[in-house]
Amino acid sequence: MTTIDDLLPGLIAFRRDIHAHPELGFEEKRTAAAIARELRAIGLEVHEGIGGTGLVGVLKNGTSPRAIGLRADMDALSIHEQTGLPYASCTHGVFHGCGHDGHVAMLLGAAQHLARTKAFDGTVNFIFQPAEEGLGGAREMVAEGLFERFPCDRVFALHNWPDLPAGTVATRPGPIMGAADKFEIVLTGKGGHAAIPHNTPDAILAASTLVTQLNSIVARCIPAMSSAVLSVTQIHAGHAHNVLPAEVTIVGTVRTFDPAVQDTIEARLREMTHGVAASFGLTSAIDYDRYYPATINDADAAAEALQIAAGVATAQLASEPAFTSEDFAFMLHACKGAYLWLGQGCGPGSPPLHNPGYDFNDDILATGLRLHVALVEALLGADEKA
Ligand SMILES: [Zn+2]
Ligand SMILES: [Zn+2]
Repeated sequence: MTTIDDLLPGLIAFRRDIHAHPELGFEEKRTAAAIARELRAIGLEVHEGIGGTGLVGVLKNGTSPRAIGLRADMDALSIHEQTGLPYASCTHGVFHGCGHDGHVAMLLGAAQHLARTKAFDGTVNFIFQPAEEGLGGAREMVAEGLFERFPCDRVFALHNWPDLPAGTVATRPGPIMGAADKFEIVLTGKGGHAAIPHNTPDAILAASTLVTQLNSIVARCIPAMSSAVLSVTQIHAGHAHNVLPAEVTIVGTVRTFDPAVQDTIEARLREMTHGVAASFGLTSAIDYDRYYPATINDADAAAEALQIAAGVATAQLASEPAFTSEDFAFMLHACKGAYLWLGQGCGPGSPPLHNPGYDFNDDILATGLRLHVALVEALLGADEKA
């Protein structure tokens, strides 16, 4: 009988091949084709082209109508890899700097194991989604009927987490990842000679005032026990030392967990922008994009997952959510479930996610695989009634 350990060399080779051939969001053609080929080879029903390059592998056993979904993301980042690894990216400027290559390998391994052992009663939907890194691949899959075509009682996703020790699993009920908003503000005047400022509304001085005011929103408009971040990250204006520019663009991001806090921040940002612009004799335009909602775990699903994780890893309740964002949020809007962090800590000073020196830790492949399998075998237990 083949064991999980026997699967690992093949999975590590598969992971490293994907690592060497990374693809950006909605361009994961080679990756998706390789996954589809592997899933078909072990007898799964495979449905491709869901949400662009997304695919679902379906494994049924027994007669129970119960079903769970397990998600892995497939896309890489626009970063130039600097790991020096023998399997480093062959594509200049594209890099698996978030470990999605490892997520794919863990989920494929779970499919390989479960297709063989079938120690469950029901349906497992293996969801491989495109474009997690800012382009909303999960939203596209949900919009194309993911959960209508492949109904799930629960859906789970694992993400490697460098801040946690390898072999640790952590999650929490309620918010686990932040909502991500992007704002772009344009202040417009008429421009003019820098030596005659009383004739020209000063868009740069207005922008400077506005940036200071925006930084007061979280401190002064949000209750102290709530959490939020507002960061101004870009200012663009001007081209000469003696010209007052006609236009300034201010760009930034807002991160929150509570939609009411998110509403307050957007409203105050709009009021301040219009107020400052008017006081300087400028006009203003605001593009405020709520591109990822907060990732909110179902309390029961998070508790179940932690209890099940304790059987295969060191399971711990995460004390606080992270302000980074995750488009699995869209799947959790459509289906109950939970997002779990899988510790991959490689010691102090090891590169964080999205760093050019980062690499997925192959030592945690087995833990992730076992966790997927344990979720299926516990929640679709062969001895339980539907
Ligand atoms: Zn990422
Ligand atoms: Zn990621």
